[in-house]
Amino acid sequence: MDNPGKFYITTPIYYVNARPHIGHTYTTVVCDAIARRQRMMGVDTFFLTGTDEHGQKIERSAAAAGCSPKEFVDKISGEFRALWDRMKITCDDFIRTTEPRHMRGVQALFTRLQERGYIYKGSYSGQYCVFDELYVDAVGPGAPCPECGRPTETVHEENYFFKLSAMQEPLLRFYAEHPDFIRPETRRNEVVAFVRGGLRDLSVSRTSFKWGIPVPGDPRHVIYVWLDALANYMTALGYGSDVPRDQEKLARYWPADVHMIGKEIVRFHCVYWPTFLLAADLPLPHSIIAHGWLLFEESKMSKSRGNIVRSETILDTLGQDALRYFLLREIVFGQDGSFSFDALVQRFNADLANDLGNLSSRTLSMISRYFQGEVPYPSPSERTPADEAIEILAQKTITDFQAQFEQFQFSRALETAWGLVSAVNKYIVENEPWAVAEREDSDSKARLATILHTAVEALRIVTALVHPVIPEATARIWAQLGLGEIQQLNLRELAWGQIQAGTKLGKVEPVFPRADKSMIERMQQMEHERSTEGEKKTDPQPAGTGAEAGQRATEAIAGSQSSGAPLIPSAGMSGTSAGPDKITIDDFLKIEMRVGEIKVAEKVKGADKLLRMEVDIGSEVRQVVAGIAKAYEPEKLVGRKVVIVANLQPRKLRGLESNGMIVAASLDDGQPVLAGFLEDIPVGAKLK
Ligand SMILES: [Zn+2]
Repeated sequence: MDNPGKFYITTPIYYVNARPHIGHTYTTVVCDAIARRQRMMGVDTFFLTGTDEHGQKIERSAAAAGCSPKEFVDKISGEFRALWDRMKITCDDFIRTTEPRHMRGVQALFTRLQERGYIYKGSYSGQYCVFDELYVDAVGPGAPCPECGRPTETVHEENYFFKLSAMQEPLLRFYAEHPDFIRPETRRNEVVAFVRGGLRDLSVSRTSFKWGIPVPGDPRHVIYVWLDALANYMTALGYGSDVPRDQEKLARYWPADVHMIGKEIVRFHCVYWPTFLLAADLPLPHSIIAHGWLLFEESKMSKSRGNIVRSETILDTLGQDALRYFLLREIVFGQDGSFSFDALVQRFNADLANDLGNLSSRTLSMISRYFQGEVPYPSPSERTPADEAIEILAQKTITDFQAQFEQFQFSRALETAWGLVSAVNKYIVENEPWAVAEREDSDSKARLATILHTAVEALRIVTALVHPVIPEATARIWAQLGLGEIQQLNLRELAWGQIQAGTKLGKVEPVFPRADKSMIERMQQMEHERSTEGEKKTDPQPAGTGAEAGQRATEAIAGSQSSGAPLIPSAGMSGTSAGPDKITIDDFLKIEMRVGEIKVAEKVKGADKLLRMEVDIGSEVRQVVAGIAKAYEPEKLVGRKVVIVANLQPRKLRGLESNGMIVAASLDDGQPVLAGFLEDIPVGAKLK
């Protein structure tokens, strides 16, 4: 079934609970560069991306946004698609888990596992983490999830179970026989240790919500989101279809050569996915590659910190090549990396505008000026050790770049390519073609031709090598070299000495305009405007689950930290500090404090600190206005239990009556942190 002449690579499908940001772009660009390079090597390549659209979080988010789940997922999935279109990402397909072709395939896989005896019906009582959509080992209502730290919910469900426990030995054997299956090594070691620790059967259906793929023959159940999502890698090729064309495609491309993922979804891809396939007797993917997280100026990007960078800002200013180059050059693949606008502009100016841009423009302008725009004939008698050294370095660069790129060492590969760029720039300075051109004798003319031939050949080689990373600029340089369409080149054949003397250059123009310092401010300003604009619209975000930036299948950026973090101050709080005098218990008992649950939370128009909330305190639902908007996003508050001072006199804020006060700690910087409970607690309970 395996076809060595093909290459199939996938991104995770992106969870539509969050809008696309630079973390998604990172994963996608890495895959795109790999796919482009494979195609340039003449390999029959299939590159898949898409969106993950089912689950309880989506159902809840859609309800909070006041639309149907379908409307909700259509909108966000469309944003991903539009961004990849704009970036000219070369994916061959874009799968959505709400498409009939996928749903049919997932049901076929479920049935196959059932028929092979790996799925049985059982029941589960215990703790459930909505964020991870997982049953977890935790004890008692509200106990924190061991995965993400969020409070768990107690559930009693009848479920279908997958016999994961039976797969421990086969899986360990598979890992041992395929040492490159999981990379990098650190991830592999974690996964092996996890599996050695023992596997328990996995619940693969839910009855607690509807937004999913029904279990065949038992539509009260929907199929577990991860079984649903992971299957996309096969359903996109046609798994589950009986159309011959689909079956051929599946046979041609499956198994995948590379599943590219973020490190937070390693377990699902390296434990669950291979066991589903082993149990179904289907071929396993060749490798699962986990990259690190993209941080913003060294800290985790998250919605609550407001530091999620959108790719559009960079596309609007420096363009996609700058972004692609930065992500592959600056981040050591596999490790966490840091994004900042300063570093982006610095890289752009130093490596692209200066190094490569200068090499290209001065080499090509001199050929235009001294040789009427035709690549000159080198003269063997004028060849020096310096020319020889460039040729040797160029050959070595081709070999090393290839090896490093194939080992996913993109940063080193680019460093290697830029080593050649620097060497040629230095060669040009030392050999002073402009001075040689002043001398009129024929030896000098031959020497000038040799220098420029050496420089232009090195430029051609670098341009070809880095095309998968910076496709637009290299395509333009290629055209200026008079070589036509760069896609026509076969990288396997790339070698020194292939440029034809006499080749007529195209129109020579600068490829990278320099970015000045004001560019950084401009990008920061754009980010700021985008984020405030996002707040004014109803930004589709998770409701109630504390779901952060909310990726499941993909979060390249860190996923989960903020909901452990606290919430906010209330407008009512600040004026009410009690002062140093002691009060009696009777004084205290005058304050009626109750547990309330936030049902509705929204920004107050024209007041950037205020949120309007509707809080259920058991006996009634109160409207409360509080100054917590800077610290908490309204979407994340829905479903949260808070403490309400219930017998406060109503007061008006911005024309809205606030009937009660939410209790919060006030930090030194004025940040409010909402009081709450670790245990599950009924609404309306009184505090004393
Ligand atoms: Zn969790």
